[in-house]
Amino acid sequence: MTTQPVRQQSCAGGRAGKYLQTLHRRDFLAGAAFINGQWVSGDKGDVVVDPATQEEIAKVTRCTAADANLAIEAAEQSFSEWRDLLPEERGAILRSWASLLLEHLEELAILVTSEQGKPLAEARYEITYAAGFLEWFAAEGQRAYGETIPSHKAGSLVQVRMQPIGVVAVITPWNFPVAMIARKAGAALAAGCPVIVKPAPETPLSALALARLAEEAGVLPGVIQVLTGNPVELSTPLLRDTRIRALSFTGSTAVGRLLLEGAADTVKKVSLELGGHAPFVIFDDVDLAKAVKGAMAAKFATSGQDCLAANRIYVQRGIYDPFVDAFAKAIAQLKVGHGLEPATDIGPMTKLSVANKCREHVEDALKKGARASSANQGAGLGPNFVSPTLLSDVTEEMLIAREETFGPVAAVLPFDTEEEVVARANANEMGLAGYVYTDSLRRALRLSEQIECGMLGINTASFTGPPIPFGGWKQSGLGREGSRHGLAEYMELKYVCFGDLAG
Ligand code: NAD
Repeated sequence: MTTQPVRQQSCAGGRAGKYLQTLHRRDFLAGAAFINGQWVSGDKGDVVVDPATQEEIAKVTRCTAADANLAIEAAEQSFSEWRDLLPEERGAILRSWASLLLEHLEELAILVTSEQGKPLAEARYEITYAAGFLEWFAAEGQRAYGETIPSHKAGSLVQVRMQPIGVVAVITPWNFPVAMIARKAGAALAAGCPVIVKPAPETPLSALALARLAEEAGVLPGVIQVLTGNPVELSTPLLRDTRIRALSFTGSTAVGRLLLEGAADTVKKVSLELGGHAPFVIFDDVDLAKAVKGAMAAKFATSGQDCLAANRIYVQRGIYDPFVDAFAKAIAQLKVGHGLEPATDIGPMTKLSVANKCREHVEDALKKGARASSANQGAGLGPNFVSPTLLSDVTEEMLIAREETFGPVAAVLPFDTEEEVVARANANEMGLAGYVYTDSLRRALRLSEQIECGMLGINTASFTGPPIPFGGWKQSGLGREGSRHGLAEYMELKYVCFGDLAG
């Protein structure tokens, strides 16, 4: 099988436009940026399209570097008032924000699917997932405990406090356009820090809708702001300004490196959630059906555009052939189409470059001897659609075994021994997530120590959520999001020594 040529005109034309017409919240489509509590229409130079059809769905303000400077000034001005609220007061506002997300779940989900492409059911899930972070940090902000340390100095008392770091710049990707903002802003706001959000140009409407609901929830002017426009023009002032104390980014490792370099001059605290290349290791002692179910979930969620996606599926030789057969059958059942079609499992890739990378990985693997199977479900739908494809007999020489694919192409590699598969799983610079399927407790314990990644699922493909520390090892990132560790990313420690207590 090879990928089929595509027709330029999608059969799904106009669908997002029709759904968006039904939104009661017309303001979700206004495309105005949000600076210092004002909706700024300015130059509507940027166009947002439905990735399934390339149909224009909105125009968005192209903010300038001068707008970024205004936002920095407003954020700095708002800092003390926000910081000085009691944690439960900030928590109450975050809870209202979460409730508003849930009240507008359907309209937000339509917005996400229209500009991002994911199936509507996944978009709905994303809204509840995002609201969960706001709820969770609303409470966790009240638990930013310091420490009292038994003193090492005579007649003194030693304390460590946690204090908000200051204004935070947040740069987010297009694959989870609501949840990535909620996970970062929820933590920063709970910690007492204002945030300036620069969303991905592909998905600004979700970010702007989120900001409208934050405003309605009572977030003070300047405490949350959204700058839409050119990434480099907007990130340059954010990186250079000393008033921005922290930067939180999710996206590619290449851009993460640039931002880390850019933040060095002003020594900002940087947290980075970057690319993944997750190994998914299946031993031959497992229930085949459970392993197939897990691999389907870990590979095809968000149409494969997920940093947790299983990119290298290692299967032990004893069950290799039956696994490949069963996996191919399951993949052939996936329905590809517009995300707003109720039966769709796999939507378009949000960006053409991502779809092209999938095709490149398939072609490269076929040239180097892999076998492919696909029911060609995406054929003819449009350039951003990729047919779900299984590549078996993949070897480490193939691009797909070395680079993140970020689409619905599954690579399966045979292995023989535990020692061998651990070495192969770890022989990569990425270390975000990993998965192990085995019925042996001893083996599960051994691999839980040995696999080099920030997050590991043993016999499960589902493990994210607000209470867990989300983040990667090696070049998959720095710092953590979610959990108490995520709150700490937006706080500074202050050690205070009270001396001369005897007087
Ligand atoms: P990207 O890194 O280019 O974009 C992510 C964010 O960074 C967007 O807001 C974008 O506008 C901004 N950005 C891009 N270039 C910038 C620059 N020079 N300065 C400042 N900001 C900049 O991601 P992409 O190219 O759209 O996606 C490609 C790859 O990134 C994917 O294949 C995947 O590997 C990775 N990715 C990972 C995640 C994740 O969840 N970790 C999310 C999206 C993409």
